[in-house]
Amino acid sequence: MNDINTTDENQKKDVISDEAIGNNSDVIPEEDGASRFQHYFSDVEELNAPKLTTVLQSFLRLREIDSELAEIEEEKGDLPESIEKLTSQCSILKSDYTSKKGTLNSLVDEKSRLETENTSHEEKINKYDEQKYNVRSNKEYDEITKTVDSLFEEVKKNESRLKEIDSILSVLDVEIEELENKITEQEATLSEKQSLLDELDEQYKQEEMVLRERRNSAVSELNETHRFLYENVNKMYKGEAAAIVRKGNCSGCYNSIPPQRVIEIKSAEKIFTCQSCGRILVSEELIGN
Ligand SMILES: [Zn+2]
Repeated sequence: MNDINTTDENQKKDVISDEAIGNNSDVIPEEDGASRFQHYFSDVEELNAPKLTTVLQSFLRLREIDSELAEIEEEKGDLPESIEKLTSQCSILKSDYTSKKGTLNSLVDEKSRLETENTSHEEKINKYDEQKYNVRSNKEYDEITKTVDSLFEEVKKNESRLKEIDSILSVLDVEIEELENKITEQEATLSEKQSLLDELDEQYKQEEMVLRERRNSAVSELNETHRFLYENVNKMYKGEAAAIVRKGNCSGCYNSIPPQRVIEIKSAEKIFTCQSCGRILVSEELIGN
C-alpha cells in the first residue's frame, strides 16, 4: 500500500500541497525539503502505517502551543517599541530643558552683574553730586559733570538691557515649567510601561518555559519530515499551521475543499495541505479523539 497522495494532474492548484507532502516526484525539484519528504514517505511505506491520526493530533497540539506563544509575542511586541519611542522623546525634552536652563542661568548671572554695576554707579554719582558743591574751579566742576553724565549713560544702558533680560526670563520661565511638566508626565508613563513590560517578562518567562517544554515534547513525537512540514507552515501562519475541515471548508482560509478530498482527509491515511492557503488540514472528527 502506498501512503503517497496520488497526483491529480487536473488539480494544478494543489501543487503547494503536493510539494509539501512530496507526493509528486515529477514536480518536486531536487532540494532538501523535497528529498526529506520523499524519504519520509518511503519510511511510512516501510512502517506500513495506514492511519496518521497520531501525527495529525500532534499537529493540533503543536498548533495550540504555538498559538499561545504567538499571543505572548504579540502582547509583548508593542511595549518595547513604545518604551523606546518614549525614551527618545524624553531625552529630546531633557536636552531642550538643559539648554533653556543654561540660557536662563547665564541671563540671571548677567542681570545680577548689571544690578551690582548700577548700584556702584549710583553710589559714585551721589558722591560726585556732593563734591560738585566743594569744587574750586569751573574746570573741576565740568569734569565732575562729565563723569556723572557718563555714569548716567552707563546706568541707562544697563537698565535697558535689564528690561530686555526680564522679558526673556519671563518667557523662559514659562517654557521651562512646561518642559518640566512634560518630562514628569512622560517619565511617569515610561516607568508605568517599563514596569508593565518587566511584569509581563516575568510572567511570560515561566509561561514560555512551560510552553517550550510542551512544544519540545510534541515535536519529538514527530518524525523529521512531519516536523519539517509543520515548522514550514508554522513559519507562514504563526500558531495556525493546522486548519480544521468543517462542513467541507478549510477553517484557516474558508475556501471549500472538494468532497472526495474531504473523505480522504477524514480517513487520515495521508496528510493534505489546503490548496488555497497551504495549512495542514485535519478533519473535524479528529478533534477530541
Ligand atoms: Zn485554507
